[in-house]
Amino acid sequence: MTTPQASFQTDCEEGINSGYFASANYKSQQCCSQKISVPQQDISLEVCKQASQVPSRSYLPWHDYFMSLCYLTAARSKDPNTKVGACIVDKENRVVSLGYNGMPRGIKDDDLPWGKVAAHSYETKYPYVCHAEMNAILNERHTTLDDCSIYVSKFPCCECAKLIIQAGIKKVVFSELKPEPWEEQVPTRKMFSLAGVTCRKFIPSIHQLNLIVTDGIGSVSITK
Ligand SMILES: [Zn+2]
Repeated sequence: MTTPQASFQTDCEEGINSGYFASANYKSQQCCSQKISVPQQDISLEVCKQASQVPSRSYLPWHDYFMSLCYLTAARSKDPNTKVGACIVDKENRVVSLGYNGMPRGIKDDDLPWGKVAAHSYETKYPYVCHAEMNAILNERHTTLDDCSIYVSKFPCCECAKLIIQAGIKKVVFSELKPEPWEEQVPTRKMFSLAGVTCRKFIPSIHQLNLIVTDGIGSVSITK
């Protein structure tokens, strides 16, 4: 038989975990009163909220966190014009892999061109640069990417779209559309649609995120 005491603990479990204290012993303190109904009788509970026990409201939501990692990772890129970052996340919101655009492994950054325009296409960066999505996918070799999500700071090109689909990734969240003609986005969107990969634009929950590291001491400020 369920006792009122047992119901009390179950009902308050979430509150305790999130920093709220529920106990009859707190009657003498500054408390807000909350009434919880149980099947057989009503019990008045004193739920005490102390400032030091309330979780911080100034934290980074998951989506903003993952997209912020994309931009931070993009800062590793040597590309003088376009820096892109990608972050792969599993269903448990664990970061599985990160990647940024760069030259293939083992090739020095100065050995291949970084320009966008040249007399011949092989004198531009385009045939050589590995995109952020490709690197994020290939950087993880030990865990399946099935049903994972990929966050990307820019809309994926059609070559990366194919890699994303073949890797088993089921959700794409991008932040920026490249200044390309609409037609160049069509193959990516068409393949995602046909393969059952959802693709949506990132909608931030925060207004601004500032990361400052000075003399090895870091601080982050979030403006919502
Ligand atoms: Zn790409």
